[in-house]
Amino acid sequence: MLLRSIHKPDPPRPDISLRATRSMRICQIPGCSLEIPPTHWMCAAHWFEVPAALRGRVTQSFSEWKNGLQDVRAYLTARFTAIVFVAKLHGIDVTEEELKLGRWKAAV
Ligand SMILES: [Zn+2]
Repeated sequence: MLLRSIHKPDPPRPDISLRATRSMRICQIPGCSLEIPPTHWMCAAHWFEVPAALRGRVTQSFSEWKNGLQDVRAYLTARFTAIVFVAKLHGIDVTEEELKLGRWKAAV
């Protein structure tokens, strides 16, 4: 039986600030190099360029997927649509991404 002795000191805790730094992501909008927390996939400036209705769709489909009410495709489609929208807003060529999105939507 493995019991943890109350007399042994706890193992050293990892440096949380260092861990947070390592797991930072880069905004998914092509050309944007802003670091964002791992719970995000787009920087705040780009996220708020997404129309409110589409942001709502992303948030709702994420919640439905996380709660097991829907498969992940609706969330990924909404998320990908948001990325394509913002990229086009900045004149970034997203032809290839749109083709992928079209194939994705056709499969849903
Ligand atoms: Zn960004």
